[in-house]
Amino acid sequence: MLLQGLRQSWDLESIFKGGSRSEELLAAIGRIEKQLADLNQKVESFQFSEEALQEVVEGVQQNAALINECVSFVGCLTAQDVNDKQALNLRGKLESLNAVYSTVLVLLDNKMADIPDEEWNRVIQKPYFAAIAFPLSERRNLASQKLSYEQEALMNDLAVDGYHSWSTLYDTVVGKIGIEVEKDGNKETLSVGQAENRMTSPDREERESVFAKYTEAWDEQADFCAEALNHIAGFRNSVYKHRKWDNVLKEPLDINRMSEETLKAMWQAIEENKELFVTYLNRKASLLGVEKLSWADVDAPLTNVDSTMSYDEGASFIVEQFQSFSPKMSEFSKHAFEKQWIEAEDRSGKRPGGFCTGFPVKNETRIFMTYSGTPSNVSTLAHELGHAFHSYVMDDMPFLATDYAMNVAETASTFAEMVVSDAAVKNAKSKEEKIALLEDKAQRSVAFFMNIHARFLFETRFYEERKQGLVPVERLKEIMVEAQKEAFCDSLGSYHPYFWASKLHFYITDVPFYNFPYTFGYLFSASIYAIAKQEGTSFEEKYIALLRDTASMTVEELAMKHLNEDVTKSEFWKKGIEVAIEDVKEFLELTQD
Ligand SMILES: [Zn+2]
Repeated sequence: MLLQGLRQSWDLESIFKGGSRSEELLAAIGRIEKQLADLNQKVESFQFSEEALQEVVEGVQQNAALINECVSFVGCLTAQDVNDKQALNLRGKLESLNAVYSTVLVLLDNKMADIPDEEWNRVIQKPYFAAIAFPLSERRNLASQKLSYEQEALMNDLAVDGYHSWSTLYDTVVGKIGIEVEKDGNKETLSVGQAENRMTSPDREERESVFAKYTEAWDEQADFCAEALNHIAGFRNSVYKHRKWDNVLKEPLDINRMSEETLKAMWQAIEENKELFVTYLNRKASLLGVEKLSWADVDAPLTNVDSTMSYDEGASFIVEQFQSFSPKMSEFSKHAFEKQWIEAEDRSGKRPGGFCTGFPVKNETRIFMTYSGTPSNVSTLAHELGHAFHSYVMDDMPFLATDYAMNVAETASTFAEMVVSDAAVKNAKSKEEKIALLEDKAQRSVAFFMNIHARFLFETRFYEERKQGLVPVERLKEIMVEAQKEAFCDSLGSYHPYFWASKLHFYITDVPFYNFPYTFGYLFSASIYAIAKQEGTSFEEKYIALLRDTASMTVEELAMKHLNEDVTKSEFWKKGIEVAIEDVKEFLELTQD
């Protein structure tokens, strides 16, 4: 083993000493307050000159970096101990500072929009601005497509209670849902999250009975959810109407720095290549002994294979596998393990899930997860190390040039995960283990190509219908089932008509259309992985150069510059799908009678 005796808890002391009682942290928060007031004043009285612009932009970057540093730290505190009340207080404080920061930034965007093009183009080429010309011009450009500063500011104020609060109300409703189930004669009440976990049980009877109760629970809350969903969409449609944006996809596409042509090419490639995934779903149905899979069967495991790795073994495996693709990524990961940048301990009181968070002032990252040794834990660990490596290669860049969008954010993480999960399949100790690992990969592809496709189809259609008025529960169910049938090529025996109610992503007001960026990220990195497999470690420098540019150009430019590929053509996307197809083919071979 490469790594031995690793500690499984992270070191936060080297960021700020003293946890949620940290004096250093309080001092940093005090500094933010002072700097923000100073910046606000400078932006309000801003008169264009090269020096004045440089001064405010520098102020923005300093504040953003320090706010992020503190937000990350407090995020780590609340994750490692969900009962840390002091950390929750600090989070509230930082949220309000963040709101002040956003307002200052919107004002600056408008001031930048007022600078004449000729002046702007001259200044933006100067050495200080060169590395951040893209994000700055992007902000200026978007501001010019919105309403006046006063109108946008008023809208943002009204949105607190008239828009975002629908999302909060939805969370409240979901939090109160209790799903009563019976197992071995014992009655228990499950939360939505617990019920969803039970729905991936290897026991089909349990899955189906929990899913039936789960559906009943959503049926009871359907009116509330429909109300919230209709008002979220209505608010968004009104904003777009006033801004004279006629395409509901404009905002999500802008956020992800991609064109509609690219999005269409991606879905087209997926639609044209679904056949084999339908074959996989049919095979899974026959292995489960049913004619067609039900909705709850799709994410269920076929078998109950347990293969575990200790933390040291998992860490060594990851570091070793990274080596053959990128020695730098391998070296960096080793460093992260040894320097205790990772909180992986399996204990109670921790938040569920995993994340990677950055400290832009200290130029470090931290990873959070709970490691119990399963193959999916090893994948998660690799995934988060991929995110950390992405930050690491951007360490020396100005803050604004490191703000990449969600669709490319998942590039490095998915890439790292693919390296490790592929190696795990190759290293499988038995046929059963290999089948289980391949099935897991096939399930993920189905999620990206079919489940998320259904969400996208539903959302585009619903937003169109919503323009004509409120869309009632019965119609929402219809649109949803139509979308699911289409996305799954009619291959399932039953669908989930209340998915528009149960899927939290439809209610996230900060990020519209929180669906296609997942599929984009997955396929984009699958294509990169396919190239890397051909080129070996010589690809490393190219890969790092690509990661460094993820926040400095559109995705079309990024792929052209670093991969010489045209993402507006479906041929590009087919290369990524091909990677997933290989896994499914192997699965089908291994499970043949
Ligand atoms: Zn991720």
